Order: sequence, then C-alpha cells, then structure tokens
Amino acid sequence: MMLLGDFPRVKLVKLPTPLQYAARLSEDLGIDLYFKRDDAMELAFGGNKIRKLEYLLGDALKKNCDTVITTGALCSNHARLTVAAARKIGLKPVLILRTTGPRKVKGNLLLDVLLEADVRIFDVEAEKIPEIMEKVARELEEEGRKPYIIPGGGACPIGALGYLNGSVELMHQLNELCVKPDYIVHSTGSGGTQTGLTLGMKALNSGVKVIGISCGGSRERISGRVKELADETSKMLGLPFTLQDEDIIVYDEYTFGGYGIVTGEVLEVMKKVAKMEGIILDPLYTAKAMIGLIDLVKKGIIEKGSTVIFIHTGGTPLVFQYEEDLWKYGLTVKWP
Ligand SMILES: *Cc1c(COP(=O)(O)O)cnc(C)c1O
Repeated sequence: MMLLGDFPRVKLVKLPTPLQYAARLSEDLGIDLYFKRDDAMELAFGGNKIRKLEYLLGDALKKNCDTVITTGALCSNHARLTVAAARKIGLKPVLILRTTGPRKVKGNLLLDVLLEADVRIFDVEAEKIPEIMEKVARELEEEGRKPYIIPGGGACPIGALGYLNGSVELMHQLNELCVKPDYIVHSTGSGGTQTGLTLGMKALNSGVKVIGISCGGSRERISGRVKELADETSKMLGLPFTLQDEDIIVYDEYTFGGYGIVTGEVLEVMKKVAKMEGIILDPLYTAKAMIGLIDLVKKGIIEKGSTVIFIHTGGTPLVFQYEEDLWKYGLTVKWP
C-alpha cells in the first residue's frame, strides 16, 4: 500500500484554494452552492491542471528529467500551465499542439509563446499525437536532453493524485465549516479530475456524489476513461477498492455542439454568474458545467435544498481566446 504522501510532489501554488459560499446564486437556485476556487491560483492564472502537475513534475524531477513534453489544442489550459510550471522549476517546456481553436496568438497560446515554450503545431488527428510526442522525445534525447512526457490533460494515474489530494483538502475545508456536501459538480474532459475526486470522495467515505459535465466528449467515452484511470490509480496506490460504474456520473447533454463551440447559452450563464457573484466562468468548460448544474437542479436530479460544491476548474485565458465568439452573441458597448 502506497500513501499519497509517498509520491514526490513539487509545490507550485499556495493551497488550499478558497471555498466560497455563493449567497445570491444559492437563493436563486434553491440550493446551498459553494465555489471551490481552483481558478484562483497564483501561477499563470491557475486551474485544475496545477494539482496534477504537482505530482507529475514531482515524478519528472525524481527521474532527473530536464525537459517536459505535453500536448493539447491551441487553446489548451493544460499546455499553458505545464509550460508555466516547468519554467518555475527550471525545466524546458515543449508543446505538441493540435490546430483546434482560433488560429490567433491570444489567450492560452499567447501565454505559451510569452513563456517561450518550444511550440510545435500539427494539423493531425488526436490519435497521431502520442506517436509524435515519442518521436520528439527521441530527437531531444539525441540532443542530450532527458524528456518527460505528460499525456494530454495530465490524464494518467500520477496526475489523478492531484485531485485525490484535492479531495482531502476540500473535505477538510467543509468539515471546518460543519458543512456536509451532497454533490460535487465539475467540468470533465480527459477524466483525471473526475477520477481523483470520485476516488477521493469514496476513500473518505463522504457519501458525496461527484457529477462530471462533459466539455465535449460522449458520456461513454469519458466514463470509460474514468473507469480505466480509476482502476490504474487504485492499483498504483494498492487501494482495496476502485470505482464501480454507478460511482461514475457523466452528463454529455450540455456540450452545445461539442468541444470549443460557444453559443448564446454559454454567454448567458457567464453573464448570470458574473452579475450575481462577480465570478468569471470560461466559455469552454466551467460555463457549460454551470449550465448543467442549473439544469440538473431544474429537473430535480439535484434536489432543492441540496448542498452543492462547484469546482471552478479555471480556464480564465479562454475568455480572451474566444472573445470574438462572445461578441457575436451581443457582448457589446455603446461607443461615443
Ligand atoms: C482540463 C480542464 C477541465 C477538465 O479536466 P479533466 O481532468 O481533463 O477532465 C475542466 N475545466 C478546465 C478549465 C480545464 O482546463
């Protein structure tokens, strides 16, 4: 049996992140709603990938690596945070990016370039990426470097430890407030966050249901990935249990046409949360997750009076990477 503390970890940001009661939205929805502010971290605008990177880069340093290779879309939060974290601890960042997203140097891509990552862009299917990362790794080795490959989204057992640790942190904060949560709602994509949270809540015997709202992928694909990751993670830790199908709750009804597609509904919910709480959601992940949360309350799947924790997983630079999509739906000012 391995303990969480046995895994090497680099401390990247100040934790815990804030846990905030959303009084006005709570009243509006008829639930008790808290935001876990994982967007409020001090490294390069923060986000959920930081928690995974603390363990992934801990592993990279233990293996004496000096270079980090990872992948994502042009708009990837994971890519931006991997670059920033690598810079902070003195590793060379290399990005293998796919052409999904606006072809403009802004938002996350602007930050990748500002941080002087070695950015290599490929117009290929996602299935080709692992092969390309391996090839780039071999080339870098020939130059005498020692590369560490992080899969897209940091979705692997070591990465999943980030939200296992995040689960302990969150439950500790809730215990301090004498609050017993019923649901955790978050945006899910590559599945590492959901794996860590669901395994963590189960390990802590919390009784909390973890709900993932897909940012694009189908329910089958994401829940299959979470199951696989959970099995690998619990095996790595030597846990006496893993996740069962009924533990893995994914809704794919709120993707609004798929990953990266911004619609009027997305702008509406961003405005609602901004106006009621002063909290800025991003258009690709957290806005869609919030639409899901609101609809699940409306349908009674999340019962009125429930205590719900919404994980704000970050994505702040996407507000600016997708600003033109937001203008399209009436985000405008009156010029003199
Ligand atoms: C990556 C990301 C997610 C999804 O997390 P996974 O662990 O990949 O499922 C959600 N929200 C934001 C802002 C992200 O960047």
